[in-house]
Parts: sequence; C-alpha cells; structure tokens
Amino acid sequence: MYDLHQVHRRYGPAAALDGVDLRIAPGATTALIGPSGAGKSTLLRMLVGLEWPDAGEVRFDGAPLRRDALPALRRRIGYVIQEGGLFPHLDAAGNVALLARTLGWSRARIQARTAELAALCQLPADALRRYPAELSGGQRQRVGLIRALMLDPDVLLLDEPLGALDPIVRHDLQAQMRALFARLGKTVVLVTHDIAEAVWFADTVVLLRAGRIVQQGPPRALLDAPADDFVRAFMRAQRSVDEAVR
Ligand code: ADP
Repeated sequence: MYDLHQVHRRYGPAAALDGVDLRIAPGATTALIGPSGAGKSTLLRMLVGLEWPDAGEVRFDGAPLRRDALPALRRRIGYVIQEGGLFPHLDAAGNVALLARTLGWSRARIQARTAELAALCQLPADALRRYPAELSGGQRQRVGLIRALMLDPDVLLLDEPLGALDPIVRHDLQAQMRALFARLGKTVVLVTHDIAEAVWFADTVVLLRAGRIVQQGPPRALLDAPADDFVRAFMRAQRSVDEAVR
C-alpha cells in the first residue's frame, strides 16, 4: 500500500525521521511504536500528506504522493486522532457527515451510511444527536472512527486512538476494533505508546527510535528475537498487575 524510501524530515537541527525505509502491506495492521519523540506521529502524518519528506520518497499504490493529488488521496484514507478530533460546534451526526456533504452525497445516503456505521461501531443512535462535549471519551472515539470510515477508505490511520480512555473502555474498544479491522480488511496503521496494544492489533510492529527503525516484524519476532538490548528492554518495559503485586 505504502512504500517509504530513505525518508528524512528535520525540524531545525533535530531529525524527526532519519532515513526510514518501510513497506506497509495492504489489508494488514501495522503498529508504529517507540519512545516519545521517536518520529511515530511524523511518519503517520506523512502517510496522509500532512507532512512532507525533506529527502526521500513516500509512494502510495506505487505512485509518489503529490500535493496536487491530495484531495483524491484523502478520500481513500480515514485518519483518527486522540479523542476523535471532533469539531465541538457540530453534533456527532454533523461531524460524521462533513466530508460526504462536501462531496454532494444526498441526505438519505448520508443517513443510511451513518446508521450502518453506528451499528458497526456500536454507537447508540441517540449519541448521534449529541455534541462532542456531551459524549463520553469512548463515544467520541467511536464517532471519530465512524467519521473516518464514512467514505469507505482503503486505509485507516490511527494516532493514539485509545490513549485518553479509561482502562475498561479501552479494553472493550480494543476488542471491538480488532474484530472490526478483521471484518473490514482495510490497511490499518496505528501509533501507540502501549506495547500490549500494539501486539494486540498488529500483524507487523515497527519500533522507532530517534527517527530510525530499529526493528520491524511480527510482534512475536520482536519479543523472541530482539535485534538489540534497546528492543529487548522496550518490549519488556510494561509491568503486568501480577508482577506489580508480587
Ligand atoms: P512521536 O510521535 O514518536 O512522539 P513525533 O513524530 O511527534 O514523535 O516527533 C519527532 C520529533 O520531531 C520530536 O523531537 C518532536 O519534538 C519533533 N517535532 C515533531 N513535530 C514538530 C514540529 N511541528 N515542529 C518542531 N518539531 C517537531
């Protein structure tokens, strides 16, 4: 789906991405992990044309990303950020409908698609009439996901989508989203701080450090055959409750 070749991006003297080569397979889920400041969000933003490389190339479906082709590209990509990134002055239905309206969809078509996705994402119908401030964190996240899925994109990009949720809501949404991804068969790229979450969702985990990919592969490979001490420490950095009470 995506091919990145020697992608570099600097902010002042600091390199956010420092020679990234990455292939993102279609129909699979890829998790970008790594410490804060490793370049995960910058990489994700590049996939949707919100950032551009200083050097190197990002290819989508075999062709380099071009600024003049962005509107067409964005219709093929759903992008979800923490808390859903909803517009506060629009109710949930208004947020979800925004893109479809600009494309001239009829009211009936928008309503039908919204109802279909609300059922799929388990959002109660009455929540669609509420404003973001009147929704729970989990509901805002579901609305963000529905908005991203509205145009039936090929790709879903998720930046810390569950980061702000309490543990039980997060646990439930993780289960529902994984089932949803399996069912929809879309290409999913997600950024997370949470290693267990990355392992839960991903076919491929990409571990970044200081703008470089340290190791990528199936979660099991990073756990069983870490490329170096950093990978070993990073993959084992989370304490389980069992371990904590011991
Ligand atoms: P991560 O998502 O892994 O936490 P980011 O991609 O957000 O990392 O950031 C990578 C590096 O680039 C960090 O050092 C960050 O401070 C820097 N950076 C990211 N965006 C900007 C920006 N718009 N302006 C200046 N520096 C930035």
